[in-house]
Amino acid sequence: MAIRPELKPDLACEEAMTGSAPRSVVILGATGSIGKSTADIVVGARGALKVTAVAGGRDPIALARVARDLGAGFAALADPAGYAELKEALAGTGIKPAAGRAAVIEAALHPADIVMAAIVGTAGVEPTFAALAAGRTVALANKECLVCAGAAFIRKAASLGTQLLPVDSEHNAIFQALGAADHDTVEKITLTASGGPFRTWSAEAIAKATPEEALKHPNWSMGQKVTIDSASLMNKGLELIEAHHIFGIEPERLDVVVHPQSIVHGLVAFRDGSVIAGLAAPDMRVPIAHCLFYPRRLKTAARRLDLASIGQLTFEQPDFQRFPALRVALECLRIGRGLPTVLNAANEVAVEAFLARRISFHDITRLVELCCQTALRDGTAWEPLSVEEALAIDHMARERARALLAQPFASGMLTSR
Ligand code: NAD
Ligand code: MG
Repeated sequence: MAIRPELKPDLACEEAMTGSAPRSVVILGATGSIGKSTADIVVGARGALKVTAVAGGRDPIALARVARDLGAGFAALADPAGYAELKEALAGTGIKPAAGRAAVIEAALHPADIVMAAIVGTAGVEPTFAALAAGRTVALANKECLVCAGAAFIRKAASLGTQLLPVDSEHNAIFQALGAADHDTVEKITLTASGGPFRTWSAEAIAKATPEEALKHPNWSMGQKVTIDSASLMNKGLELIEAHHIFGIEPERLDVVVHPQSIVHGLVAFRDGSVIAGLAAPDMRVPIAHCLFYPRRLKTAARRLDLASIGQLTFEQPDFQRFPALRVALECLRIGRGLPTVLNAANEVAVEAFLARRISFHDITRLVELCCQTALRDGTAWEPLSVEEALAIDHMARERARALLAQPFASGMLTSR
């Protein structure tokens, strides 16, 4: 089922943009990179947006700050250990503090016209799904939701008629390029990839890259996990799976092109030969604002595009040899069933291990591929029919990835090149 732009104005939004009622927003992952860019748009909207609740992971002080700055009524921290500090930091503000997994879900269910889903990783699945199931419009930054449990999300959105608006820059550009086009007229959807910091590196150099090198993204400033995924091109693989679900398009009609300038974010090719591309400066405030105000467009302070000063836009084929993560993700997308769920879970464990310097950059994809192959063999990559099933597959894949990391022989094998 495709979620495509039905360009019917949403009444709540219409009223918020034209009249007195501000559009209410919950921000999940408010202390992160997308969360901060969202806060920036809210502040710049001068009353057109109102934040009702915020949620964050582990940093009570940062969460209290954003809750105060945005005038939220409720602040939920995932980590219960930070509750006392959060409570103290919010004392006298009237903002209700809460902590734990249930509190994050409570934040997701707070009254709001739109929920910005910007928690990183599988941790975002349950709260984002809760918001969607409660009929909230969801601005989806967390791509792992769709990689882990895409079918369940899309089915729920379709059955309730709720909107999932893509925040990821490529998907947002494609969503805009699709407009009200008839799905059958689309020949191909192309996502661009910057190529990351290792675009021009040799396979040998990439294999030995350090966390510091992998965290230096040439165009985007983002959270650590998505930055590492961008360096391995796993991010583009996850985004292909995300695009498959959000646009209801089969893998054969999806493509990737490397575009180092990150100006063209996505392209839609139609059957008459026309191609519509979505362009913008590499600034996440552009797609965030598009989703928060959709279907209207309000003025923002996001970076403007100046093509003449950029001069050249270049494009190249992705290199599957040097970036095997893209190949593995594509295979998982093509085979389907529960493999994207396994890929996503194993990748999260592998990225964590890489950042902790337990494995090399090269081992990230090796560990992920090993977990996918094993799940395929032992039958634990069945098609998840619900979020609960997807999370069960995710759990098993994590256990397997951790077990492989813990085995001296396996980790030796993983680190040998
Ligand atoms: P980040 O690491 O900067 O922020 C993640 C946020 O999630 C933080 O607020 C953190 O506290 C919160 N969090 C972590 N665990 C949590 C939990 N269990 N419960 C509640 N909150 C929790 O990450 P980011 O770069 O902002 O990315 C967020 C999501 O958006 C990711 O899925 C990423 O792939 C996607 N995304 C990011 C960008 C970008 O430019 N940063 C672009 C496209 C898509
Ligand atoms: Mg993206």
